[in-house]
Amino acid sequence: MTNSRNYRGRFAPSPTGPLHFGSLVTALASYLEAKSCEGQWLVRIEDLDPLREPPEATGEILNSLDAHGLFSDEPVLFQSRRHEAYHSAIEHLRSEGAAYRCNCSRKQLQANNGRHPRHCRNSNAAISNQPSAIRFALNDEQCQWQDQLLGLQHHRVRAEIDDPVLRRKEGFFAYQLAVVVDDIEQGITDVVRGSDLLDMTAQQLQIYHALTATPPRWLHVPVIVNEQGQKLSKQNRAPALDNRSAVRNLFGALGALGQKPPKSLLAGSVEASLEWAQMHWRRGAIHLTDR
Ligand code: GLU
Repeated sequence: MTNSRNYRGRFAPSPTGPLHFGSLVTALASYLEAKSCEGQWLVRIEDLDPLREPPEATGEILNSLDAHGLFSDEPVLFQSRRHEAYHSAIEHLRSEGAAYRCNCSRKQLQANNGRHPRHCRNSNAAISNQPSAIRFALNDEQCQWQDQLLGLQHHRVRAEIDDPVLRRKEGFFAYQLAVVVDDIEQGITDVVRGSDLLDMTAQQLQIYHALTATPPRWLHVPVIVNEQGQKLSKQNRAPALDNRSAVRNLFGALGALGQKPPKSLLAGSVEASLEWAQMHWRRGAIHLTDR
């Protein structure tokens, strides 16, 4: 069992649109995990890519979280204000030989048996000063790690072909770098997130090790799908949550997490729903559907 005094969890949405039911389920799971361990729960806005983020989305997400009683225990962290930290992390990784400049596309890599045609990993000098992406140099590995809900995970990590981009050619920092740098900076002990990110975890573990930091525990909750079996997301036009129905939304989200909220909650307040949920939270009741 997690030592309650040390538990620090977070919800880290990318503001590509307003909060929808699927993201509420994830937010609620991470909140309840943290609160049932008497831990801290933080909100972080992962606003790394202004081209994919309507300017109003961040405000809408934060309003929705408030309306559902989900308040961050510390000031909200914005990744758009963390560029210096990402820059330093990249410099550090490069000085250790764990990151390199590269302009290869995935297509080029595939056409070359997954190897970099210009040997970018070993010859930084070859790329002169033209704008280029920075990639993390993965080690080939058969990785095993323990998910708090799904159990032992096995993941094959392939050097070169899978080397994740840390900073894009256009200058934007990438999720794989920023999520690790910020979870370290914020002292996050436990990450609860959607299982669509399960396959990212083995790579993130290698980035933690390259930054000589202790990785958190991970718990991946099943993602909510629509009638066509697609993940609820902005691309699939998942409707924004109606904040006026916060109690009903929480009731639905608890049901989606396999909890059994009594109908009487529907006549009560957001606070009463969250209090019930915290007291009765059972991680083991989450349905293990396909991801
Ligand atoms: N920002 C990511 C998303 O909205 C989640 C990151 C994470 O929880 O690791 O999908």
